[in-house]
Amino acid sequence: MTPRTRPDLASIPAYVPGRSFPGAIKLASNETTHGPLPSVREAIAEATTTLNRYPDNTSAALIGALSERLHVEPERIAVGCGSVSLCQELVQVTCNAGDEVVYSWRSFEAYPVVAAVAGATAVPVPNTAEHGHDLPAMLAAITDRTRLIFVCNPNNPTGSLLGRDELEKFLDAVPSHVVVALDEAYFEYVRPAPGEDLPDGLTLAEGRRNVVVLRTFSKAYGLAGLRIGYAVADPEIVTSLGKVHTPFAVSSLAQSAAIASLAAAGELLDRTEQVVAERSRMFDALTAAGYPVPPSAANFLWLPLGERSPAFSEASAEAGVVIRHYGTDGARVTVGDPHENDAFLAFATGPGRAYA
Ligand code: PMP
Repeated sequence: MTPRTRPDLASIPAYVPGRSFPGAIKLASNETTHGPLPSVREAIAEATTTLNRYPDNTSAALIGALSERLHVEPERIAVGCGSVSLCQELVQVTCNAGDEVVYSWRSFEAYPVVAAVAGATAVPVPNTAEHGHDLPAMLAAITDRTRLIFVCNPNNPTGSLLGRDELEKFLDAVPSHVVVALDEAYFEYVRPAPGEDLPDGLTLAEGRRNVVVLRTFSKAYGLAGLRIGYAVADPEIVTSLGKVHTPFAVSSLAQSAAIASLAAAGELLDRTEQVVAERSRMFDALTAAGYPVPPSAANFLWLPLGERSPAFSEASAEAGVVIRHYGTDGARVTVGDPHENDAFLAFATGPGRAYA
């Protein structure tokens, strides 16, 4: 029988989100443990009064607020239904069938999926032995079919961070017709080492018209359930993104919540301090217990346990803490609040040690 849907979809894996079950501690999706601030909840409640109307398809008020906060012209900002939809839209605006999308692997699970779904060819470049991006190998992977490169900084799921100097050199070496998406979903958790500059995509994008910065309200801003993220890019790219954008994909609740969250940015970003402190506490405890954990610049830690990763993750879930494993490469645990982290550490430094 002739298939009714594209036969090539059969070989494309669906995106698999972090799971959970009732009563479990969920450290599987890099979310914020805290619920929304009262001011954000009020803004959402206020927005419910106009749910009979379509949202502003241009997210104009939010773009105005982002423009002020980031000191970026409104023409350079696009809003999406989560930054993952902006990843998808970027493939659509850059690639025809058979064009190539280069990314480091392991990295964000959605990159190969959004590339393949658009008919583009996914070109994974293996991470370095230290679990980070191999920028020289990524440069070497560029061909005349390459249209888009994803650079995830910090990298999900390994937590590795590229420094400003190496990123600058990389960006200078990429041909200017190839778009580079700097995915900064975890930017708010980065704390550069003393004497090092922040590898901030917004300043790296200055004067580089092929660089797109992706950020999200899902992580440090705690709005994962509302689905809203943004891109900062050259106006030409922003205009193209508008053409492939699903009309009204960003709800009015999400737009209002994001505006209220920007107004409370100080308080929300203060919360990242606890995550950063907990990250080092967990790193120290896991390292002392013999886990080969690489340093992380994000709100999670990577446990490169190889073949033992699925069993470790399963045993952790049985102990009441849901984490996430990535095939037989490793497992990732989100840094939660101290009580949640204690529960994970009790498992990892106790029965879980059998897998270290
Ligand atoms: N980029 C990276 C690196 C991520 O880890 C995630 C979420 N897991 C996203 C983008 C997408 O986030 P969202 O769609 O919630 O904005």
